[in-house]
Amino acid sequence: MKIRFRILLFLLLFFFTTGISSIGQKRQHFNYRQTLRIDFVLSGDYEQQQSAIAAYKKRPGYSGGQNQNIPSFDYGTYRLILLNPQTEDTLFLKGFCTLFEEWRTTEQARKVSRAFEQTIEAPWPISKVRILIEYRKKEGQFVTLINELFSPEETPPVTQIIPVENPAEIIHGVNDPYKQADLLILAEGYTKAEKENFLHDAKNITEYLFSIAPYTSLKDKITVRALYIPSPQAGTDDPDRNIWKKTAMNSSFNTFGSDRYLESFSTWTIFDYAAGVPHDHIIVLVNTSKYGGGGVYNHFSIVSARHPSSPQVFVHETGHGLAGLGDEYFYNDSPTPDFFDKESEPWVPNLTTLVNFDIKWKHLVPDTVPIPTPPTKKYKNVTGVFEGGGYSAKGIYRPALNCRMKSNEAEGFCEVCRYSIKRIINFYIQ
Ligand SMILES: [Zn+2]
Repeated sequence: MKIRFRILLFLLLFFFTTGISSIGQKRQHFNYRQTLRIDFVLSGDYEQQQSAIAAYKKRPGYSGGQNQNIPSFDYGTYRLILLNPQTEDTLFLKGFCTLFEEWRTTEQARKVSRAFEQTIEAPWPISKVRILIEYRKKEGQFVTLINELFSPEETPPVTQIIPVENPAEIIHGVNDPYKQADLLILAEGYTKAEKENFLHDAKNITEYLFSIAPYTSLKDKITVRALYIPSPQAGTDDPDRNIWKKTAMNSSFNTFGSDRYLESFSTWTIFDYAAGVPHDHIIVLVNTSKYGGGGVYNHFSIVSARHPSSPQVFVHETGHGLAGLGDEYFYNDSPTPDFFDKESEPWVPNLTTLVNFDIKWKHLVPDTVPIPTPPTKKYKNVTGVFEGGGYSAKGIYRPALNCRMKSNEAEGFCEVCRYSIKRIINFYIQ
């Protein structure tokens, strides 16, 4: 009797303690009311790269919950992983892209080394975690760039970020960061007198966003906030025309020698401004009527505010920045080096090399549609496999004749892009 009782007690204790620890394990590692911001540097050239932590920072608030720790999709040329140092279990994973990887494809990268500011955010760890930052080679394997222990108590110094006091305005949706996908629009190059202009421009692009699929059907799941930040001068840098402006986020045209490529390298400053406002994705809205923009997955998107095509460019760039979509356009005579390895399947959801098409949109291609699909009128409105995409006319295929990720003239997103955007938004609201 005694023995049986002991066995029963042991079993009860076993189930009780293991049950508690597996439920508690996830929770006990993070405080979802605070963010760990990791500022780091990527440096190197065409051939090699290094990375080093610049600072660990703590800020109030976090836009997600424990269901968003590990996505079911595997996007990004880089990824942050937080491991349980005892069990090596993955506690948190976030893929991302960088301007550095784009710069590495330029001619300049064959001659000199450069360093780029990076920021990636995670929920605040309550106990020790192992921090990995990894780079995905073109062929698909990951290489570790950073591997170090972080202890919230013992890793000094952790800087506390004091958010700007200027409150953000909700221009769409409700204030419920744990349940909503949160977009944050930051004002860049608007002076003290131009707050109303900024809000007008932010509302203008937001209105267009919700007029096209799949955002129309996701209206209730997305909150858009606009944060006005005054700049000393109006506009942005335009180096080709020798125009230089003192602005809050140091944005500029002519990034990597491309006139319409509008970007900012002041990543840490941008995340400083965003620190007090819920954000699953940041959009920098630049006070200019010149055409341009850029979008980098889980980094930020940036777009000019007042060109007639600005709403379309905004939606295209957030396709990159928010949803990890690749460019479906290509150049016939491009001097651009290959961005994708044609011998392996790229991670972007809307491009394929046909090396492993089964993991892409094969299930969406009707039996009557040939692979590859001829670029003729007959296949104008079907999901197929059209050659040309990812800047290359040959060897890379896209899902539709036209799509918002291909041109501003497209009516909207192709079926594959719509599906991918929905998946990302559903990830942020789970
Ligand atoms: Zn598409």
